[in-house]
Amino acid sequence: MIDFTELIDIYLTKLFPITRSITGNGNRETLKNLQEQIPLNILEYLSNQKVYDWTIPKEWNIKDAWIKNSRGEKIIDFNVSNIHVVSYSIKVHKKISFSELKKNLHYLQELPQAIPYRTSYYNENWGFCISYEQYQELFNEDEEYEVYIDSQLENGSLSIGELLIEGKSKQEYLVSCYICHPSLANDSLSGVVLTLFLAKYLLTIQNTLEFSYRIIFVPETIGAIAYLANNEEVMKKIKSGFVVTTVGGPGQIGYKQSFDSNHKINDIVKYVFNENNIDYKEYPFDVRGSDERQYSTQGFRINTVTITKDKYYEYDYYHTSLDNLEFVKAEYINQVLNLYIQVIEIMDKDIVFKNKYPNGEVMLGKHDLYPKTGGALVFDSARQYSKIDLILWLLFYCDGKMSLYEVSKRLNLDIKTLYDIALELKEKSIMDIVYEN
Ligand code: ZN
Repeated sequence: MIDFTELIDIYLTKLFPITRSITGNGNRETLKNLQEQIPLNILEYLSNQKVYDWTIPKEWNIKDAWIKNSRGEKIIDFNVSNIHVVSYSIKVHKKISFSELKKNLHYLQELPQAIPYRTSYYNENWGFCISYEQYQELFNEDEEYEVYIDSQLENGSLSIGELLIEGKSKQEYLVSCYICHPSLANDSLSGVVLTLFLAKYLLTIQNTLEFSYRIIFVPETIGAIAYLANNEEVMKKIKSGFVVTTVGGPGQIGYKQSFDSNHKINDIVKYVFNENNIDYKEYPFDVRGSDERQYSTQGFRINTVTITKDKYYEYDYYHTSLDNLEFVKAEYINQVLNLYIQVIEIMDKDIVFKNKYPNGEVMLGKHDLYPKTGGALVFDSARQYSKIDLILWLLFYCDGKMSLYEVSKRLNLDIKTLYDIALELKEKSIMDIVYEN
Protein backbone atom coordinates (compact mmCIF):
# COMPACT_ATOMS: atom_id res chain seq x y z
CA MET A 1 0.00 0.00 0.00
CA ILE A 2 1.29 3.42 -0.98
CA ASP A 3 1.20 5.73 2.05
CA PHE A 4 0.73 9.46 1.46
CA THR A 5 -1.33 9.94 4.65
CA GLU A 6 0.98 12.49 6.25
CA LEU A 7 1.25 14.66 3.15
CA ILE A 8 -2.47 14.37 2.49
CA ASP A 9 -3.09 15.68 5.99
CA ILE A 10 -0.72 18.61 5.46
CA TYR A 11 -2.45 19.63 2.21
CA LEU A 12 -5.96 19.22 3.62
CA THR A 13 -5.04 21.61 6.43
CA LYS A 14 -3.28 24.03 4.11
CA LEU A 15 -5.95 24.19 1.40
CA PHE A 16 -9.12 23.97 3.48
CA PRO A 17 -9.28 27.63 4.57
CA ILE A 18 -8.80 29.10 1.07
CA THR A 19 -11.83 30.84 -0.47
CA ARG A 20 -12.37 29.14 -3.80
CA SER A 21 -15.14 29.60 -6.33
CA ILE A 22 -15.47 29.03 -10.06
CA THR A 23 -12.93 31.84 -10.62
CA GLY A 24 -10.71 34.02 -8.46
CA ASN A 25 -7.47 34.33 -6.57
CA GLY A 26 -8.36 31.49 -4.19
CA ASN A 27 -8.29 29.06 -7.10
CA ARG A 28 -4.92 30.38 -8.26
CA GLU A 29 -3.53 30.14 -4.73
CA THR A 30 -4.80 26.55 -4.48
CA LEU A 31 -3.18 25.57 -7.79
CA LYS A 32 0.10 27.27 -6.78
CA ASN A 33 0.11 25.18 -3.61
CA LEU A 34 -0.26 22.04 -5.73
CA GLN A 35 2.81 23.11 -7.74
CA GLU A 36 4.89 22.40 -4.61
CA GLN A 37 4.25 18.69 -5.25
CA ILE A 38 3.76 18.34 -9.03
CA PRO A 39 4.82 20.41 -12.09
CA LEU A 40 1.31 21.67 -12.80
CA ASN A 41 0.66 24.18 -15.60
CA ILE A 42 -1.78 26.90 -14.66
CA LEU A 43 -3.97 27.94 -17.60
CA GLU A 44 -6.09 31.11 -17.62
CA TYR A 45 -9.19 31.32 -19.83
CA LEU A 46 -10.41 34.88 -20.20
CA SER A 47 -13.82 36.14 -19.06
CA ASN A 48 -16.40 36.45 -21.86
CA GLN A 49 -14.88 33.65 -23.94
CA LYS A 50 -17.66 31.61 -25.54
CA VAL A 51 -17.27 27.94 -24.71
CA TYR A 52 -19.96 25.96 -26.52
CA ASP A 53 -23.31 27.13 -25.10
CA TRP A 54 -21.64 28.85 -22.12
CA THR A 55 -19.65 32.02 -21.54
CA ILE A 56 -16.76 32.23 -19.10
CA PRO A 57 -18.05 34.55 -16.37
CA LYS A 58 -16.43 37.57 -14.82
CA GLU A 59 -13.86 36.82 -12.16
CA TRP A 60 -15.08 37.01 -8.57
CA ASN A 61 -12.94 37.98 -5.61
CA ILE A 62 -13.92 38.84 -2.07
CA LYS A 63 -12.03 40.64 0.70
CA ASP A 64 -14.49 40.85 3.56
CA ALA A 65 -18.14 40.55 4.52
CA TRP A 66 -20.21 40.89 7.67
CA ILE A 67 -23.60 41.62 9.16
CA LYS A 68 -23.78 44.03 12.12
CA ASN A 69 -26.76 44.36 14.45
CA SER A 70 -28.26 47.67 15.57
CA ARG A 71 -25.63 47.94 18.34
CA GLY A 72 -22.88 47.76 15.75
CA GLU A 73 -21.79 44.26 16.77
CA LYS A 74 -20.56 41.94 14.02
CA ILE A 75 -22.88 38.97 14.30
CA ILE A 76 -21.91 37.21 11.07
CA ASP A 77 -18.31 37.39 9.86
CA PHE A 78 -16.81 36.07 6.59
CA ASN A 79 -13.49 35.76 8.42
CA VAL A 80 -14.98 33.13 10.72
CA SER A 81 -16.29 31.03 7.82
CA ASN A 82 -15.97 31.77 4.12
CA ILE A 83 -19.19 29.92 3.40
CA HIS A 84 -21.12 32.61 5.30
CA VAL A 85 -21.26 34.50 1.98
CA VAL A 86 -23.13 33.17 -1.05
CA SER A 87 -20.40 32.57 -3.64
CA TYR A 88 -20.40 35.27 -6.36
CA SER A 89 -22.27 37.73 -4.14
CA ILE A 90 -22.07 41.23 -5.56
CA LYS A 91 -20.81 44.22 -3.57
CA VAL A 92 -23.29 45.56 -1.03
CA HIS A 93 -23.18 47.98 1.88
CA LYS A 94 -26.43 49.18 3.39
CA LYS A 95 -28.74 49.32 6.36
CA ILE A 96 -31.63 46.99 5.95
CA SER A 97 -34.72 45.87 7.85
CA PHE A 98 -34.93 42.28 9.02
CA SER A 99 -37.82 41.53 6.67
CA GLU A 100 -35.63 42.66 3.72
CA LEU A 101 -32.52 40.91 5.01
CA LYS A 102 -34.44 37.67 5.49
CA LYS A 103 -34.82 37.32 1.71
CA ASN A 104 -31.02 37.07 1.48
CA LEU A 105 -30.44 34.69 4.41
CA HIS A 106 -30.02 30.93 3.90
CA TYR A 107 -30.15 28.39 6.72
CA LEU A 108 -31.06 24.75 7.29
CA GLN A 109 -33.71 24.03 9.87
CA GLU A 110 -33.05 20.28 9.71
CA LEU A 111 -29.34 20.68 10.56
CA PRO A 112 -29.43 23.62 13.02
CA GLN A 113 -25.67 23.85 13.68
CA ALA A 114 -24.63 23.76 10.04
CA ILE A 115 -24.03 26.71 7.74
CA PRO A 116 -25.29 25.78 4.27
CA TYR A 117 -23.11 26.34 1.18
CA ARG A 118 -24.84 28.34 -1.55
CA THR A 119 -23.78 29.92 -4.85
CA SER A 120 -25.20 32.44 -7.31
CA TYR A 121 -22.80 32.26 -10.25
CA TYR A 122 -25.07 33.27 -13.07
CA ASN A 123 -27.57 35.56 -11.28
CA GLU A 124 -26.17 38.80 -9.92
CA ASN A 125 -27.32 38.63 -6.33
CA TRP A 126 -25.97 38.62 -2.79
CA GLY A 127 -26.67 36.60 0.31
CA PHE A 128 -25.47 35.24 3.62
CA CYS A 129 -25.56 31.65 4.82
CA ILE A 130 -25.97 31.09 8.55
CA SER A 131 -26.79 28.24 10.87
CA TYR A 132 -30.37 27.93 12.03
CA GLU A 133 -29.08 28.42 15.58
CA GLN A 134 -27.59 31.76 14.54
CA TYR A 135 -30.80 32.67 12.79
CA GLN A 136 -32.78 32.06 15.98
CA GLU A 137 -30.33 33.57 18.46
CA LEU A 138 -28.86 36.59 16.67
CA PHE A 139 -31.75 38.10 14.73
CA ASN A 140 -34.93 39.93 15.79
CA GLU A 141 -37.96 40.78 13.70
CA ASP A 142 -37.97 44.53 14.39
CA GLU A 143 -34.23 45.21 14.34
CA GLU A 144 -32.28 47.02 11.63
CA TYR A 145 -29.03 45.46 10.31
CA GLU A 146 -26.01 46.67 8.39
CA VAL A 147 -24.81 44.34 5.65
CA TYR A 148 -21.39 44.63 4.02
CA ILE A 149 -19.87 42.54 1.25
CA ASP A 150 -16.59 43.79 -0.20
CA SER A 151 -16.42 41.74 -3.39
CA GLN A 152 -15.35 42.38 -6.97
CA LEU A 153 -16.90 41.01 -10.13
CA GLU A 154 -14.74 42.08 -13.05
CA ASN A 155 -13.31 40.83 -16.31
CA GLY A 156 -10.46 38.49 -15.46
CA SER A 157 -9.97 34.80 -16.06
CA LEU A 158 -10.85 31.28 -15.00
CA SER A 159 -7.91 29.23 -13.73
CA ILE A 160 -7.26 25.60 -14.52
CA GLY A 161 -4.45 23.26 -13.49
CA GLU A 162 -3.17 20.81 -16.09
CA LEU A 163 -0.49 18.13 -16.10
CA LEU A 164 0.17 15.65 -18.86
CA ILE A 165 2.15 12.63 -17.65
CA GLU A 166 3.43 10.98 -20.79
CA GLY A 167 3.79 7.24 -21.07
CA LYS A 168 5.05 5.20 -24.02
CA SER A 169 1.79 5.67 -25.93
CA LYS A 170 0.28 9.04 -26.74
CA GLN A 171 -3.16 7.61 -25.96
CA GLU A 172 -4.50 9.23 -22.85
CA TYR A 173 -6.59 8.53 -19.81
CA LEU A 174 -8.23 11.48 -18.04
CA VAL A 175 -8.19 12.26 -14.32
CA SER A 176 -10.36 15.26 -13.50
CA CYS A 177 -11.30 16.89 -10.21
CA TYR A 178 -12.96 20.18 -9.28
CA ILE A 179 -11.42 23.02 -7.33
CA CYS A 180 -14.39 25.36 -6.96
CA HIS A 181 -15.61 24.77 -3.41
CA PRO A 182 -14.42 26.98 -0.55
CA SER A 183 -14.04 25.47 2.94
CA LEU A 184 -15.73 22.12 2.33
CA ALA A 185 -13.62 19.05 2.90
CA ASN A 186 -15.20 15.92 1.43
CA ASP A 187 -16.95 17.57 -1.49
CA SER A 188 -14.26 19.01 -3.76
CA LEU A 189 -11.16 19.29 -1.53
CA SER A 190 -10.73 15.55 -0.82
CA GLY A 191 -10.83 14.95 -4.58
CA VAL A 192 -8.25 17.67 -5.23
CA VAL A 193 -5.85 16.25 -2.66
CA LEU A 194 -6.30 12.67 -3.86
CA THR A 195 -5.72 13.75 -7.47
CA LEU A 196 -2.60 15.65 -6.39
CA PHE A 197 -1.02 12.56 -4.83
CA LEU A 198 -2.25 10.27 -7.59
CA ALA A 199 -0.38 12.53 -10.03
CA LYS A 200 2.68 12.56 -7.78
CA TYR A 201 2.64 8.77 -7.64
CA LEU A 202 2.23 8.41 -11.42
CA LEU A 203 5.25 10.69 -11.88
CA THR A 204 7.35 8.34 -9.74
CA ILE A 205 6.43 5.39 -12.00
CA GLN A 206 6.36 7.41 -15.22
CA ASN A 207 9.11 5.35 -16.92
CA THR A 208 6.96 2.22 -16.56
CA LEU A 209 3.73 3.78 -17.88
CA GLU A 210 2.34 2.45 -21.14
CA PHE A 211 -0.33 5.15 -21.53
CA SER A 212 -0.38 8.90 -20.90
CA TYR A 213 -2.42 10.57 -18.17
CA ARG A 214 -4.06 13.96 -18.49
CA ILE A 215 -4.64 15.32 -14.98
CA ILE A 216 -6.84 18.40 -14.69
CA PHE A 217 -8.04 20.58 -11.84
CA VAL A 218 -11.04 22.60 -13.03
CA PRO A 219 -13.93 24.51 -11.51
CA GLU A 220 -16.96 22.23 -11.83
CA THR A 221 -19.16 22.51 -14.94
CA ILE A 222 -17.90 25.78 -16.47
CA GLY A 223 -14.25 24.73 -16.01
CA ALA A 224 -14.83 21.29 -17.53
CA ILE A 225 -16.74 22.83 -20.44
CA ALA A 226 -14.07 25.50 -20.95
CA TYR A 227 -11.36 22.83 -20.92
CA LEU A 228 -13.24 20.68 -23.45
CA ALA A 229 -13.78 23.68 -25.72
CA ASN A 230 -10.13 24.71 -25.57
CA ASN A 231 -8.76 21.16 -25.99
CA GLU A 232 -11.42 19.63 -28.17
CA GLU A 233 -9.18 17.53 -30.37
CA VAL A 234 -7.28 15.75 -27.57
CA MET A 235 -10.37 15.40 -25.40
CA LYS A 236 -12.26 13.66 -28.19
CA LYS A 237 -9.51 11.01 -28.23
CA ILE A 238 -9.42 10.27 -24.48
CA LYS A 239 -9.77 6.53 -23.83
CA SER A 240 -11.63 6.75 -20.51
CA GLY A 241 -10.97 8.15 -17.07
CA PHE A 242 -12.03 9.36 -13.67
CA VAL A 243 -13.86 12.21 -12.02
CA VAL A 244 -12.42 12.23 -8.52
CA THR A 245 -14.68 13.59 -5.79
CA THR A 246 -15.92 12.89 -2.25
CA VAL A 247 -13.22 10.42 -1.30
CA GLY A 248 -12.59 11.28 2.36
CA GLY A 249 -15.74 10.66 4.42
CA PRO A 250 -16.30 8.02 7.10
CA GLY A 251 -19.03 6.30 5.06
CA GLN A 252 -19.10 3.51 2.54
CA ILE A 253 -16.85 3.09 -0.47
CA GLY A 254 -18.69 3.00 -3.77
CA TYR A 255 -18.42 3.91 -7.39
CA LYS A 256 -20.54 5.70 -9.91
CA GLN A 257 -20.63 3.82 -13.19
CA SER A 258 -19.64 5.40 -16.45
CA PHE A 259 -22.42 6.09 -18.97
CA ASP A 260 -21.82 2.75 -20.67
CA SER A 261 -22.04 0.28 -17.81
CA ASN A 262 -20.53 -2.40 -20.06
CA HIS A 263 -17.35 -0.39 -20.57
CA LYS A 264 -14.46 -2.26 -19.03
CA ILE A 265 -13.44 0.56 -16.70
CA ASN A 266 -16.48 -0.39 -14.58
CA ASP A 267 -15.41 -3.99 -14.58
CA ILE A 268 -11.86 -3.14 -13.54
CA VAL A 269 -13.13 -1.03 -10.61
CA LYS A 270 -15.30 -3.92 -9.41
CA TYR A 271 -12.38 -6.33 -9.83
CA VAL A 272 -10.19 -4.09 -7.63
CA PHE A 273 -12.93 -3.78 -4.98
CA ASN A 274 -13.27 -7.55 -4.86
CA GLU A 275 -9.50 -8.04 -4.66
CA ASN A 276 -9.52 -5.71 -1.62
CA ASN A 277 -12.58 -7.38 -0.04
CA ILE A 278 -14.49 -4.12 -0.13
CA ASP A 279 -18.23 -4.13 0.47
CA TYR A 280 -19.07 -1.40 -2.02
CA LYS A 281 -22.09 0.51 -3.20
CA GLU A 282 -22.81 0.80 -6.90
CA TYR A 283 -24.35 3.97 -8.28
CA PRO A 284 -25.66 3.70 -11.82
CA PHE A 285 -24.78 6.46 -14.25
CA ASP A 286 -26.98 9.49 -13.84
CA VAL A 287 -27.09 12.74 -15.79
CA ARG A 288 -26.98 14.49 -12.43
CA GLY A 289 -23.60 14.55 -10.74
CA SER A 290 -20.23 16.12 -11.37
CA ASP A 291 -18.13 16.72 -14.48
CA GLU A 292 -18.90 13.30 -15.99
CA ARG A 293 -21.97 15.25 -17.14
CA GLN A 294 -19.72 17.17 -19.54
CA TYR A 295 -17.32 14.37 -20.47
CA SER A 296 -20.22 12.03 -21.29
CA THR A 297 -22.00 14.41 -23.65
CA GLN A 298 -22.59 13.27 -27.21
CA GLY A 299 -19.57 15.05 -28.68
CA PHE A 300 -17.13 13.44 -26.24
CA ARG A 301 -18.64 10.28 -24.73
CA ILE A 302 -15.71 9.69 -22.39
CA ASN A 303 -16.45 6.84 -20.00
CA THR A 304 -15.49 8.22 -16.59
CA VAL A 305 -16.08 6.55 -13.26
CA THR A 306 -16.01 8.02 -9.78
CA ILE A 307 -14.71 5.91 -6.91
CA THR A 308 -15.99 7.57 -3.78
CA LYS A 309 -16.16 7.31 0.00
CA ASP A 310 -19.30 9.08 1.21
CA LYS A 311 -20.60 10.14 -2.19
CA TYR A 312 -21.98 13.63 -2.81
CA TYR A 313 -25.75 13.96 -2.25
CA GLU A 314 -25.64 10.93 0.07
CA TYR A 315 -24.21 12.23 3.35
CA ASP A 316 -26.03 14.51 5.80
CA TYR A 317 -23.27 17.13 5.93
CA TYR A 318 -23.13 17.54 2.13
CA HIS A 319 -22.82 21.24 1.17
CA THR A 320 -22.61 22.44 4.77
CA SER A 321 -19.97 23.70 7.17
CA LEU A 322 -20.03 20.28 8.87
CA ASP A 323 -18.30 18.84 5.80
CA ASN A 324 -15.04 19.85 7.46
CA LEU A 325 -11.72 18.43 8.59
CA GLU A 326 -13.36 16.62 11.50
CA PHE A 327 -15.54 14.72 9.04
CA VAL A 328 -12.80 13.93 6.53
CA LYS A 329 -9.68 11.93 7.39
CA ALA A 330 -6.38 11.69 5.52
CA GLU A 331 -6.32 7.91 5.99
CA TYR A 332 -9.67 7.55 4.21
CA ILE A 333 -8.32 9.54 1.27
CA ASN A 334 -5.17 7.43 1.26
CA GLN A 335 -7.30 4.26 1.21
CA VAL A 336 -9.29 5.45 -1.82
CA LEU A 337 -6.09 6.72 -3.47
CA ASN A 338 -4.77 3.16 -3.35
CA LEU A 339 -7.91 1.90 -5.08
CA TYR A 340 -7.49 4.46 -7.89
CA ILE A 341 -3.83 3.44 -8.19
CA GLN A 342 -4.73 -0.25 -8.46
CA VAL A 343 -7.36 0.46 -11.13
CA ILE A 344 -4.87 2.57 -13.11
CA GLU A 345 -2.16 -0.05 -12.79
CA ILE A 346 -4.50 -2.52 -14.50
CA MET A 347 -5.71 -0.06 -17.15
CA ASP A 348 -2.15 0.92 -17.89
CA LYS A 349 -1.16 -2.66 -18.75
CA ASP A 350 -4.33 -3.29 -20.74
CA ILE A 351 -2.51 -3.36 -24.05
CA VAL A 352 -3.34 -5.21 -27.22
CA PHE A 353 -0.53 -7.52 -28.31
CA LYS A 354 -0.36 -9.30 -31.63
CA ASN A 355 1.26 -12.67 -32.20
CA LYS A 356 3.50 -12.30 -35.26
CA TYR A 357 3.24 -16.05 -35.95
CA PRO A 358 -0.46 -16.72 -36.55
CA ASN A 359 0.14 -19.79 -38.74
CA GLY A 360 0.99 -22.77 -36.59
CA GLU A 361 2.61 -22.59 -33.17
CA VAL A 362 5.85 -20.78 -32.54
CA MET A 363 8.77 -23.16 -32.04
CA LEU A 364 9.49 -22.13 -28.46
CA GLY A 365 12.86 -23.87 -28.23
CA LYS A 366 14.20 -21.88 -31.17
CA HIS A 367 13.45 -18.65 -29.27
CA ASP A 368 14.95 -19.98 -26.06
CA LEU A 369 11.55 -20.24 -24.40
CA TYR A 370 11.43 -23.97 -23.81
CA PRO A 371 13.34 -26.04 -21.20
CA LYS A 372 16.24 -27.87 -22.82
CA THR A 373 15.02 -31.27 -21.65
CA GLY A 374 11.57 -32.13 -22.95
CA GLY A 375 8.88 -33.67 -20.76
CA ALA A 376 9.94 -32.14 -17.47
CA LEU A 377 7.76 -29.03 -17.26
CA VAL A 378 7.97 -27.41 -13.88
CA PHE A 379 4.48 -26.87 -12.56
CA ASP A 380 4.11 -24.16 -9.96
CA SER A 381 1.48 -25.64 -7.66
CA ALA A 382 0.67 -22.24 -6.17
CA ARG A 383 -0.52 -21.17 -9.60
CA GLN A 384 -2.84 -22.68 -12.12
CA TYR A 385 -0.36 -22.32 -14.94
CA SER A 386 3.28 -22.91 -15.65
CA LYS A 387 5.14 -20.20 -17.56
CA ILE A 388 5.00 -22.28 -20.73
CA ASP A 389 1.22 -22.51 -20.34
CA LEU A 390 1.02 -18.75 -20.14
CA ILE A 391 3.22 -18.25 -23.18
CA LEU A 392 0.99 -20.61 -25.13
CA TRP A 393 -2.19 -18.91 -23.93
CA LEU A 394 -0.82 -15.48 -24.80
CA LEU A 395 0.15 -16.65 -28.27
CA PHE A 396 -3.28 -18.19 -28.60
CA TYR A 397 -5.30 -15.12 -27.57
CA CYS A 398 -3.19 -12.13 -28.60
CA ASP A 399 -4.47 -11.59 -32.12
CA GLY A 400 -4.19 -7.81 -32.32
CA LYS A 401 -7.76 -7.41 -31.10
CA MET A 402 -8.09 -8.97 -27.67
CA SER A 403 -6.57 -6.81 -24.95
CA LEU A 404 -4.54 -8.12 -22.05
CA TYR A 405 -7.33 -7.46 -19.55
CA GLU A 406 -9.61 -9.74 -21.56
CA VAL A 407 -6.91 -12.41 -21.55
CA SER A 408 -6.41 -12.02 -17.81
CA LYS A 409 -10.14 -12.49 -17.22
CA ARG A 410 -10.27 -15.62 -19.35
CA LEU A 411 -7.30 -17.10 -17.54
CA ASN A 412 -8.40 -15.75 -14.15
CA LEU A 413 -4.90 -14.40 -13.62
CA ASP A 414 -3.52 -10.98 -12.71
CA ILE A 415 -2.67 -8.75 -15.64
CA LYS A 416 0.83 -7.89 -14.41
CA THR A 417 2.03 -11.50 -14.67
CA LEU A 418 0.73 -11.70 -18.24
CA TYR A 419 2.13 -8.30 -19.13
CA ASP A 420 5.64 -9.30 -18.01
CA ILE A 421 5.56 -12.47 -20.12
CA ALA A 422 4.03 -10.64 -23.09
CA LEU A 423 6.87 -8.10 -22.92
CA GLU A 424 9.38 -10.93 -22.96
CA LEU A 425 7.70 -12.25 -26.11
CA LYS A 426 7.86 -8.79 -27.60
CA GLU A 427 11.58 -8.53 -26.86
CA LYS A 428 12.05 -11.82 -28.70
CA SER A 429 10.14 -10.32 -31.66
CA ILE A 430 7.38 -12.90 -31.34
CA MET A 431 4.69 -10.35 -30.49
CA ASP A 432 4.02 -6.71 -31.32
CA ILE A 433 2.17 -4.05 -29.35
CA VAL A 434 -0.86 -2.59 -31.08
CA TYR A 435 -1.87 0.10 -28.55
CA GLU A 436 -5.41 0.59 -29.87
CA ASN A 437 -8.17 -1.34 -28.20
ZN1 ZN B 1 -20.56 20.40 -4.46
